[in-house]
Formats: sequence, structure tokens, C-alpha cells
Amino acid sequence: SSVIDILSIPIRNVTLREAGDFVFKCVEEGKVASIATANAEMVMLAQEDRELADILRHADMVVPDGAGVLWAAEQQGKKFQERVTGVDLACSLLREAAARQTAVYLFGGAEGVADQAVANMKRLYGDIHIVGTHSGFFSAAEEQGIIDEICSKGTQILLVALGVPKQEKWIRNHLYELGPCVCMGVGGTFDVLSG
Ligand code: UDP
Repeated sequence: SSVIDILSIPIRNVTLREAGDFVFKCVEEGKVASIATANAEMVMLAQEDRELADILRHADMVVPDGAGVLWAAEQQGKKFQERVTGVDLACSLLREAAARQTAVYLFGGAEGVADQAVANMKRLYGDIHIVGTHSGFFSAAEEQGIIDEICSKGTQILLVALGVPKQEKWIRNHLYELGPCVCMGVGGTFDVLSG
């Protein structure tokens, strides 16, 4: 799939389906990969935050989340196939993960929110193989334990909801300590799915 640069951030022109296929291809191959969902706020933040810009430039896939990103492409005479939101991609990954019994870990959000999101998603998609959840409010002393758990439970897909840009920086800093897994920053997605 092609890439469209929005203010120097390379965003992949993928459909929701293509984005999901990419994730499960990585999972099947046991690859480590990072996924980001870019909206206008994230692209603007990356103009001032060089670390975030660098992370997005090196991510394995940045998807076009947000009407502002689609609009900005049209200003350059380009067109994304469709908007791929974090919520839609997370749901689509959880549905496919249920079908394949992929090991999923949900990290982030307030205490209990990820568990409530899991309960709702299981009602929709059947039994999802959730290997663990952890709230996104943790101490420095707890962090290594969370990383060890994600790794030792054999996590294949890790959804990280710590807000932008904390989640992108956390993923970049720890991606290679987590075992072979695909990590995606999902922002407020657990809050949406738990409702
Ligand atoms: N969050 C967290 N730990 C933090 C800060 C935020 O787990 O230290 C969670 C928060 O509970 C919320 C999500 O990260 O579920 C951020 O969602 P929001 O919609 O505010 O962020 P954005 O999508 O703009 O990044």
C-alpha cells in the first residue's frame, strides 16, 4: 500500500481490512511491530515533539485515524481509501483474535476499564484469549512487572492506552522487551469499548 505524507508524517493508505491483515501477518510470522493511529492532533503534536515524529516515521504502520488527516491529504490532491480509527481497528483486531485465539493483552486506562471493555467485547465476538490486563496508572516500581507479564504470557497483540504521546513513547522504549508481539497505541479506546 502507498504512503501519504501529512506534515512529514508518513501515513499508510490502508483500509481497515488491510490494516488488520497486516497485523495478523506480523502475528503469524512472529514479528515485533508497532502500529500508530494518526489524527490531526497527533500530527500537530509531532511538529513540536521530535521524539514523537521520529517514532511515527519508524513505526511499522501508521493508519489514517481522523477526518483532519483525510482532509489534509485532499489539500495535496491525494485521497486515503478510508478512515481507519483506533476504535474500529481495535474492534476488528479483537474480533479476528477471537476467531484465531490470538493472545491479547490490554494495557492502560483507569482501573477496571480494560476488564469492562473485555467483558463487552466477549459478548460481541465470543471468547477472546485475553492473557492479561493492567491499568495505565502504575508506579515506576511496577513497570518491570507489567513488562515481564506481557512477555511471559505470550502476548501476540498488545493494545496500549496511555494517551498520546505517552503510549507511543512507551511502545518505542519497550517494544523489544515484550517478546514477539504487535503493539498498537489506542488512546481512549478502552473508555469507548467499556461503555
Ligand atoms: N491513561 C492512562 N495512563 C496515563 C494517562 C492516561 O492509562 O498515565 C489513559 C486514560 O485513562 C485514557 C487514555 O489513556 O483511557 C487516554 O485517552 P484520551 O482519549 O485522553 O487520549 P488520546 O486518545 O487523546 O491520547
